[in-house]
Amino acid sequence: MAHNIQLCDDGTMDTVFQCEKCSEEIRYSEVDRDDDGCVTDEFFEQVADDHECEDASCNQCEALMIQGLYCHETGCPNTKKVKIDGEWVARTDEDDE
Ligand SMILES: [Zn+2]
Ligand SMILES: [Zn+2]
Repeated sequence: MAHNIQLCDDGTMDTVFQCEKCSEEIRYSEVDRDDDGCVTDEFFEQVADDHECEDASCNQCEALMIQGLYCHETGCPNTKKVKIDGEWVARTDEDDE
């Protein structure tokens, strides 16, 4: 099974991966990396296993995740909702980070 995990270097000592599917960051503080800063394929597998992907799917349409935002099909009832813990809920605050 292909994984969707990317290694991204954020300039810290942490090893940061990003899931291409849900854009979530997965951060590890202690990882063995080689001289090039790479991690083993085995570790990628482990990250993929560890990560519980909140996949980009919408239960009402064929939504796509683009740069961390859901792009719903026209007319999808979830367009104005946000996905929290896998549930689509109506958005209450505009800027609630
Ligand atoms: Zn994911
Ligand atoms: Zn949708």
